[in-house]
Amino acid sequence: MGRKRCAACGERFSPCRHVPDQQYCSKPACQRERRRRWQREKLRRDPDYRANQAVAQRRWCERHRDYWRKYRQSHPDYTARNRARQRERNRNRDFNATAPLLVPIAKMDVCNDKIPVTSGTYRMIPARGPGIAKMDAYLVEIQVLSEGYSDRG
Ligand SMILES: [Zn+2]
Repeated sequence: MGRKRCAACGERFSPCRHVPDQQYCSKPACQRERRRRWQREKLRRDPDYRANQAVAQRRWCERHRDYWRKYRQSHPDYTARNRARQRERNRNRDFNATAPLLVPIAKMDVCNDKIPVTSGTYRMIPARGPGIAKMDAYLVEIQVLSEGYSDRG
């Protein structure tokens, strides 16, 4: 019954009346994918947008420069737990299809002047909340903005 194919999941859907050239179905995951692609295109094509994002990222880093260091100092058990869990994860990596892991978690510091992370798809595990027990992981795309923009991906 759907007249179009979703550009993300490939399933058929009927575009809503007000958006005749709708490319993505209404599933939340597909809408997220639409926004993600939109932002990637925007970053690729719009130097002003790119610069603004880089500035925002830098400001955030300045505000949070000591965040992880302080957090680790005040949560030694968190750090130890993370190390143990990371070792465990390194032992059974069954999820290496898309990208390298951000390791080790305890040393992760996005605010280094030299950013140790390259643009790409990463697995993100929430540091707090129910995710810690269930080990839910999300795939996130990271685009490094501050060291010049690389076009890969
Ligand atoms: Zn879809």
